[in-house]
Amino acid sequence: MNVEEREILAFCAVAIVGGGTAGLSLATELRHLGVGDVVVIERETEAGGVPRHCGHYPFGLREYGRLMKGPDYARRNVAEAQEAGVRVLTGTAVTGLHPGGVLDLSGNAGSARLSALRVVLCTGVREASRAQRFLGGDRPPGVVATGTLQDMVYLKGLRPFDRPVILGSELVSLSAIMTCRHLGITPLAMIEEEERLIARPLFRPFPALMGVRLHTGVRDLRIHGRDRVEAVSFFDRYGGAVSLETDGVIVSGRFRPEAALISDSHLERDPGTGGPVVDQFGRCSDPSYFAAGNLLRAAETSGWCWREGVDTARRIVADIARYGVQPATNAPLPIQFSHPALRFVVPQGIAPGGSQGAMVQMQLGLERPFSGRLVARSAGKVLWSGRLSGAPVRRVLAPLAPILHARLSAPVDLALE
Ligand SMILES: Cc1cc2nc3c(=O)[nH]c(=O)nc-3n(C[C@H](O)[C@H](O)[C@H](O)COP(=O)(O)OP(=O)(O)OC[C@H]3O[C@@H](n4cnc5c(N)ncnc54)[C@H](O)[C@@H]3O)c2cc1C
Repeated sequence: MNVEEREILAFCAVAIVGGGTAGLSLATELRHLGVGDVVVIERETEAGGVPRHCGHYPFGLREYGRLMKGPDYARRNVAEAQEAGVRVLTGTAVTGLHPGGVLDLSGNAGSARLSALRVVLCTGVREASRAQRFLGGDRPPGVVATGTLQDMVYLKGLRPFDRPVILGSELVSLSAIMTCRHLGITPLAMIEEEERLIARPLFRPFPALMGVRLHTGVRDLRIHGRDRVEAVSFFDRYGGAVSLETDGVIVSGRFRPEAALISDSHLERDPGTGGPVVDQFGRCSDPSYFAAGNLLRAAETSGWCWREGVDTARRIVADIARYGVQPATNAPLPIQFSHPALRFVVPQGIAPGGSQGAMVQMQLGLERPFSGRLVARSAGKVLWSGRLSGAPVRRVLAPLAPILHARLSAPVDLALE
């Protein structure tokens, strides 16, 4: 059925798809700024997003001035939204996006259609599955992603294994160590294919401090077992064959935006981030739609996503004040690059006529470690140049203001030199 054939059942000012960290802070800020009818649509039975499943610290320091466990932080975000007058629809999935801010909803009560002046996509991320990571060997039960593990441990009170290994070494992999400690167990090892721990250098001592042996630079990782995980094997960085007896594997990190809705929609998707293409205001290729949170680029901390929600709310209020019901249709000029070390840039384009309230930094994703200069040019003229160093998965930022303040007539070319 297409949009014309189905009745539009409800209207609201702003509809937010996803009641996680970004969606809730965004909705709360919209209400504080006086937006009348703000609806958050959440497919789970409770809103709160990923932190609901993370029964450990550290959450909330920048947002609420104190260290909180994930579930307390999620509850606080929901309470703030509800106190501000946000309508939170739980147990309701958005199943379709249509031009002009029209959504298909599906829940226990059946299906419906909602039309909004602006829609914000805040659907977050998911971890790469075992298949997406091309792990070799057998396919026994007992291989879980960190998010699934946290759901089992903190929400369902299960103990899926006693001596697991963790694949991956991102921040979320360290969070998997904390989840195991909650069960009173210490993982046997943390195993990483990259040459170094991926989490920031500050966290390098963490696995050792927790008694977890770290193997980096491993090759040919395989899982063994028939009815349950029995072992993992790999070649270590020196080429030695290693086999570890284990009863579970936590596959952590290598996040991907939860972008199934976008793939099936009219919105443009960026192959680099896997999320939607946005301009400096977080506006998608259909200007009735915005995006915020980890959907933009997997994956940042909760504090970052919370702030992004607040900033995006302010941009939406300005957008509605400026354009009203009919949003801007000015096509952005793309920010483009061809260097193989660059995987993505957010925003992907610059819409004419705007720096006020816009993002102040570009977020860059690296394909491999890089140290050198980043140069931004347009029509051959250098707009900005500065030092850049970073590695894959890490936060890499560069100023956006020099690009926003230039009178652009051609795409922006990014070069790594
Ligand atoms: C396993 C894991 C552990 C983490 N640990 C930490 C930590 O210790 N500290 C920290 O600061 N950060 C941590 N993070 C990161 C942090 O939780 C996220 O950065 C933050 O929650 C992202 O907010 P978000 O709103 O973008 O997405 P989320 O919080 O993931 O929320 C997205 C929401 O969208 C909903 N949704 C998706 N699709 C639909 C749909 N079609 N219809 C309706 N609803 C939909 C989902 O159900 C979900 O509730 C962790 C992340 C993960 C995955």
